[in-house]
Amino acid sequence: MERILTRIMPEQFEKYGFPDGKRYNSFVGYFKRKYGERLQKIVLDAGFTCPNRDGKVGRGGCTYCDNAAFHPSYSTAGKSLHQQMDEGIEFHKVRYRTTEHYLAYFQSFSNTYAPLEKLKQLYEEALMHPQVVGIVIGTRPDCVDEQKLDYLADLAHGRALEGWSRTLSEGGVRTAPVVIVEYGIESCYDATLQRINRGHDFETACRAVRMTAERGIDVGAHFILGLPGETRQMMLDSCALINELPLRSVKFHQLQIVKGTRMEQEYADRPQDFERFSLDEYLDFFVDMLERLRPDLFIERFVGEVPPRFVNETPWGLIRNVELLRLLEKRLEERGTWQGRICQKPIK
Ligand code: SF4
Repeated sequence: MERILTRIMPEQFEKYGFPDGKRYNSFVGYFKRKYGERLQKIVLDAGFTCPNRDGKVGRGGCTYCDNAAFHPSYSTAGKSLHQQMDEGIEFHKVRYRTTEHYLAYFQSFSNTYAPLEKLKQLYEEALMHPQVVGIVIGTRPDCVDEQKLDYLADLAHGRALEGWSRTLSEGGVRTAPVVIVEYGIESCYDATLQRINRGHDFETACRAVRMTAERGIDVGAHFILGLPGETRQMMLDSCALINELPLRSVKFHQLQIVKGTRMEQEYADRPQDFERFSLDEYLDFFVDMLERLRPDLFIERFVGEVPPRFVNETPWGLIRNVELLRLLEKRLEERGTWQGRICQKPIK
């Protein structure tokens, strides 16, 4: 597709009114701004597996994957969803004392990989918890179909759960749960997706995002920066493809090589195939990414936080997410730039 380069001028930057005076469309505070109160996600393990592990699509999983590295201690398959919710709420209360309502985050493995009746039972069980106002569903793009998405649309538009309502702390009443679907897309390049054994291509991801968004469901996507074979320029060029998808939010993380994965061996064998970033380089690189991303895309995350015991090296030290966000904002200011300053848009 032919493209034009659109430069957004400072006065246009002002008009975007990014949250909290930031230079990018920060997801921090999104729920508060949209629903009038802070909502905290509680990670759940609902006992799903993954078609890239059980043989339906592949075996062995994605080369970087160790699901144990990605979920907190309270979320363990085998505990009921309500028990996980209760323990998750206790866990988060220490930091967020005033939070009253939560989103059940189906995060582990592929959370639409089951027959529809089973999915309904699990999602609705979570939504029966009195402090839960919605669900966030992490899944693979090849694990959804029209029936599952139609049901999620019915949930999101208040047609599926008769009589369900929650009174928010600001006094408003919700008669339909918040429903968000998050797809692991990881890369826009089929060669990369093959190399990391994802078991689906980029077009499958595009189709799933479109099918979800056209039903009026909020869609997010996850990408990894630094996968083998991808140069920095390739990652920057991905922004044009991401911009074309009807996504509401994006999460990025720098590749972290988890102990015991196949990628650990691949990195040991061919380190030259991997772009590795010092923290300083990553901040600059991510500013380059932000300049190319649509200004209306919410940036939910720009770094990953695999616990140190799962990785061989922590080249950036033990630096907290909140500090990284501060450094990103500072770097944007130093460079006098902002999200979407140079974004490529398709000609209509
Ligand atoms: S799709 Fe997700 S859970 Fe399945 S192997 Fe890949 S990263 Fe792991």
